[in-house]
Amino acid sequence: MRYYQQDMECASRETLREIQSERLARAVRHVYTNVPYYRDLMDKKGVAPADIRSVDDLPKLPFLTKDDLRKAYPYGLLALPRSEVVRIQSTSGTTGTRVVAFYTQKDIDLWDACCARAIVAAGGGRDDVVHVSYGYGLFTGGPGLNGGSHMLGSLTLPMSSGNTDRQIQFMRDLGSTILCCTPSYAAYLAETILAQGVQDYIVLKAGIFGAEAWSEEMRRDIEKNLRIKAYDIYGLTEISGPGVSFECSEQTGMHINEDHFVAEIIDPDTGEVLPEGVKGELVFTCVTKEAFPLLRYRTRDICVLSRKECSCGRTLVKMSRIMGRTDDMLIIRGVNVFPSQIETVLLQCGYPANYQIILDRVRHADTFEVQVEMSQEMFSDTVRGIAARERELMASLRAMLGISAKVTIVAPRSIARSEGKAVRVIDNRKV
Ligand code: ADP
Ligand code: ZN
Repeated sequence: MRYYQQDMECASRETLREIQSERLARAVRHVYTNVPYYRDLMDKKGVAPADIRSVDDLPKLPFLTKDDLRKAYPYGLLALPRSEVVRIQSTSGTTGTRVVAFYTQKDIDLWDACCARAIVAAGGGRDDVVHVSYGYGLFTGGPGLNGGSHMLGSLTLPMSSGNTDRQIQFMRDLGSTILCCTPSYAAYLAETILAQGVQDYIVLKAGIFGAEAWSEEMRRDIEKNLRIKAYDIYGLTEISGPGVSFECSEQTGMHINEDHFVAEIIDPDTGEVLPEGVKGELVFTCVTKEAFPLLRYRTRDICVLSRKECSCGRTLVKMSRIMGRTDDMLIIRGVNVFPSQIETVLLQCGYPANYQIILDRVRHADTFEVQVEMSQEMFSDTVRGIAARERELMASLRAMLGISAKVTIVAPRSIARSEGKAVRVIDNRKV
């Protein structure tokens, strides 16, 4: 099987445009009628549903940002009565930044189909054993790939994350052929497999890795160590989850499922739409979703689009790797972290807000250290007292962020300040 939905994945550009335009007009009417929050934004901009007849009219629509999602939290952007909705997923993060997304059964079906396309593009089919080591639960990674694999008819192994020894045991016993997880976990699994000397019992042929940025170098290492082909997959909870775009055999960017998600690149400062090939902020308009159809949603992810012909035969536009973010969100071990969350914990625990986040990637795994200046009063603490404080702070940070950081408490005023302003994040990861 080369494609999962060939008619859409390989449609001519004109056909695709027609489909997008028709679906867009319908989506705008749906949102205008059922989402007062967005209707107000449209009214303020002086645009009516009748003004949106084709994808060329997209720039007339107002943007939605994460801030709108926060203001409308939790149900303000829901476009259907709650009785029609069957699922909620959410991004990692605290109440301040948490985003919830809603799905009808049809929304889940189309999300699953997008993930099925990704699995097929990675060479998967009904005979495969798809080993899903993304987390399950509120996080979209596990449910998304799980759903795609089911829909495709592959044998689905819902491993979820953690317990590496069991992962490897199941991989061997059940003959997993496609691995889905974050690239850093894939690298870690590969190392553990090599350390255990069991690589000859592993029959993986491909991996579908996403939810965080990774480099070409990391891809090569994973491919070599696991003896597989490694494919990138991109998505975000607000738009559905993984499978918004996926890599094909060419491995030179990810095809966007444009029949569902219409992509634009804008200048993050002016909001102007940029021509193809120019780097900017990725914006998505959902044209087929029922429960949570965001229009012109600003992802804050920076990338480039390309419509160059692809050797795989798909005509869907390709996006490059994510080249950065327009905000200060960090993705550490696949979890979204904002420096402000760390600041909140420090203030709550009685520390001055002088801290530094130090990130690195050691053997493809993120290391995450938070250096915190102690207050003057703490300066006289014993070494043991400081160690206890570090443990305490580590637990509070873990509770806030959902991941562990190494905490180092340092002397007052020892964190370097440039021009009086501290550098909050030192990111030494090469991606
Ligand atoms: P998830 O981590 O499940 O994809 P979230 O909604 O928690 O979903 O996070 C979405 C963000 O994760 C995206 O906006 C993007 O910054 C980042 N992301 C997702 N996939 C990738 C990828 N393949 N490469 C780089 N960044 C990615
Ligand atoms: Zn392709």
